[in-house]
Amino acid sequence: MLRKLILVALLQLAGASCPLSTYSYAGTRFSDAYGRQSSARVHPDFVKYMNDMNSHAQTCGVEIKVTSHFRKNPVTGNQWNAKRSCHMIGHAIDMNLSGKNGYCNSSCLKGYSSYSGSDSSINCFLKKIRYDHPVLHWGIDFNDPVHIDDRLCTNDAEYDRILATLSDC
Ligand SMILES: [Zn+2]
Repeated sequence: MLRKLILVALLQLAGASCPLSTYSYAGTRFSDAYGRQSSARVHPDFVKYMNDMNSHAQTCGVEIKVTSHFRKNPVTGNQWNAKRSCHMIGHAIDMNLSGKNGYCNSSCLKGYSSYSGSDSSINCFLKKIRYDHPVLHWGIDFNDPVHIDDRLCTNDAEYDRILATLSDC
């Protein structure tokens, strides 16, 4: 019993010192692709980019189906997440899109690399992320079409600084 109480207290302490934001999907174009969660965990500095993605989704008429956000550990066997992943500092999401012609998963998104896909709403959204947004980056450039980040993980010093603040998350 005592051990359990101590464990609960420790977990509460850990939660209290984790600086990540909870980005609620309520009232946005975001939702969980698996229907399990109603929010994403992202770094506070990434919230403004979530808002930007939301307004692009609104403009283009797509829904963003989130499949991954903050990840504590690298994904084993996934070459894109071996180390220094933007997911591990809360500066990335993985997504599928639901456009006016229906659902678009990873292999479908790959077909939009030159914006010649059949769904104009999806062309519109991906173009805005890749070209119109000054910071956001669509992972198609490294063959990861579900991924969007802000390139912060390419800055080693910033990456290490942020990672060090997330040890309790
Ligand atoms: Zn990703």
